[in-house]
Amino acid sequence: MREYKIVVLGSGGVGKSALTVQFVQGIFVEKYDPTIEDSYRKQVEVDGQQCMLEILDTAGTDTDDVPMILVGNKCDLEDERVVGKDQGLNLAKSFSCAFLESSAKAKINVNEIFYDLVRQINRK
Ligand code: GDP
Ligand code: MG
Repeated sequence: MREYKIVVLGSGGVGKSALTVQFVQGIFVEKYDPTIEDSYRKQVEVDGQQCMLEILDTAGTDTDDVPMILVGNKCDLEDERVVGKDQGLNLAKSFSCAFLESSAKAKINVNEIFYDLVRQINRK
């Protein structure tokens, strides 16, 4: 069965949790708890196909400031480069996030990617 990972984003109080809980459990949540962040699983049939939805209901109060890093992987294949470093840097700038070129094969910037994300999350 195909799995679908769905993230519910949006400002606090708009009804993300209510929609999610109504969909998954069939009940309307009157009480507003802006801090609840939970994931739900639900199997449904859509267009004759069974699918498993994993829905992450975020606290999402500040969704345009998501911890993020743009990664250009396979930087060991310099001869086969298709995306210029400047292109990556410019795209990262448009997202207001950091940019790193990495190589899973040559172990370049592997830890840095994930450590940077941890640091960004810690700053929140
Ligand atoms: P979240 O912060 O986006 O998760 O918002 P909640 O799902 O907690 O909803 C915030 C408040 O709006 C709660 O008191 C809900 O009961 C209410 N609410 C959510 N969806 C609806 C809706 O469709 N209609 C009405 N009238 N109230 C809603
Ligand atoms: Mg909520």
